[in-house]
Amino acid sequence: MLAEEPSQDLGELIQIALDVAGSLDPREVIARILERGTHAVQADRATLSSLVDDHVVIEATYGRAGELTWVGQRYSLDYFAGQPLVQKAIDTLQPTFGGRLAADKAAPEFRQALANVRHVAVVPLVHGTRAVGMLVFSRYEDRPFTAADLAALTLLGTISGLALRNARLFEEGKAARERADEAAARLRAAAEAAEDVASQVQLDAVLRRLLQRAGESVDADGTSLARLEGAEMVIESTPTGELVGTRWPLMPKVLAGVSRGHPVELTAGEYTGAPEGLESVVQPYRRFLVAPLAVGGETIGLLAMGRKTDEPFDPAAVQSLQQFSTLGALLLRNARLIAQAQVAEQAKSEFMSIAVHELRAPLTVASGYLGMALEGAFGDLPPALKDVLATALRKAEEAKLLADELLAVARMEGKVLTPNTEPILAMGALQDAVARARPRAALVKATITIEPGDDSTALADRAMVATILDNLLNNALTYTDHAPTIRISARRDAGQVAITVTDDGIGIAPADQPRIFERFARGTDRITREKPGSGLGLYLSRGLAEQMSGSLKLEASQPGEGSTFVLRLPPAAS
Ligand code: ADP
Repeated sequence: MLAEEPSQDLGELIQIALDVAGSLDPREVIARILERGTHAVQADRATLSSLVDDHVVIEATYGRAGELTWVGQRYSLDYFAGQPLVQKAIDTLQPTFGGRLAADKAAPEFRQALANVRHVAVVPLVHGTRAVGMLVFSRYEDRPFTAADLAALTLLGTISGLALRNARLFEEGKAARERADEAAARLRAAAEAAEDVASQVQLDAVLRRLLQRAGESVDADGTSLARLEGAEMVIESTPTGELVGTRWPLMPKVLAGVSRGHPVELTAGEYTGAPEGLESVVQPYRRFLVAPLAVGGETIGLLAMGRKTDEPFDPAAVQSLQQFSTLGALLLRNARLIAQAQVAEQAKSEFMSIAVHELRAPLTVASGYLGMALEGAFGDLPPALKDVLATALRKAEEAKLLADELLAVARMEGKVLTPNTEPILAMGALQDAVARARPRAALVKATITIEPGDDSTALADRAMVATILDNLLNNALTYTDHAPTIRISARRDAGQVAITVTDDGIGIAPADQPRIFERFARGTDRITREKPGSGLGLYLSRGLAEQMSGSLKLEASQPGEGSTFVLRLPPAAS
């Protein structure tokens, strides 16, 4: 009998170690461990299993003839209770060897193979203080594993354990990196959607774009966005605009989930409650995902996604839907606030119109009687009474003017009057305005010059242009401390019709210039404060100019030297 010799030298084992550790692909590492190990310990078969939590996964088996079979079977660890050799190897973290494994205790599919086995060695794959797997070497001939094989088996187990663990870690790291990349890509998509959405002005278009992006992100075939009203949802947007305004009852499960801010997934079988006549809308879908639109902890709406294939939604994708939901919720809330503000503004303008109208009627009556009295219709008046009545008439006329101005502002703000545009010869509009201003101009001995200009024609509302020019001329005649000189002109300028009104009056203090177009804003200098006025003229004039797609600007003003206002209007097609 020959003395027992080690089955292989150290050099060979190191070569095996280098080989096994040379890959970071777990399957490749397993294949190398099995192949190199089988030859190194002169076995006929080697099988590698991983120990995962309380399970064993038989990964692969390799026969001496060279065939590698991937198994992938999973068993409970109890499976080893009937295999003391295996149990001992795992408990002691040391290789064990002996006769055959108990075939009757093995899983049926291995019994046949085990029947041929004469000797086995079980090598735990050790990482740290744990067995992360095991290698079972089998010999079919009557050649037992001995103490001489122990060093090689131990080394093989350690190297294999390390290599396998490294490969797994690497793979996990790679998967984590991929998940992170995916999350980053999703975040980018959401950010792009936000940008995209912010660049769209119309809410309808914005919501539709959002839906499209959200649908793409979770791979949905159909999408809708709805606001929540009690136990119902009212559809606000769909990609085609269909179904908008329809009411859908919410199932208790959905309502409970979204109210708590959780997305809810449903199969076609679970979904009930399409409104009568709309059953066909949901009929093609096999899966539904309903995500809450929440702002400040309150669920105000829903994003509903439908999928025509019966595949569950990917949890990571559902997570990413959150970004879109947040965006949708903000849009929905803003739209609601804007709508409320518009309603309030409309109500206020309507109230102003009615109130001013009611005020104006008695003023008209009063000034009519006052005028008649002053003209002697009720007999001769004592001079003192005449003076009083004259003052009363002036004040009533001022109040009427203010009422008219307030009415015009209310109409402008409520957008009651849409501009009735027509081609207007600018020079003609100027001449008409100057003619209307003549009585007042005569009172202050003003000189009004219309400068020679071209025959520019604006596309504008005649009455609105008249109101604006009257205001500008009126201001030029008012805000002065001497007999004013006023120059007006009309010409084509940068594709528009520009009407310029220049005076040599008191000018506007630089501090006042930014605010004179605001509602009720008046100049702060002494001369202005002595003149009657409401501070509404320029506010109204600019509003009317803008309603006609034009503009009104203070082009220049110097205190003590005068001001220049420019009204720009769109040109009529020549
Ligand atoms: P109001 O004339 O009733 O005060 P406006 O809106 O027409 O209201 O004008 C706002 C303010 O702008 C005036 O109070 C005045 O201080 C200043 N302003 C307007 N036009 C002129 C002008 N041509 N010259 C000097 N100041 C002006």
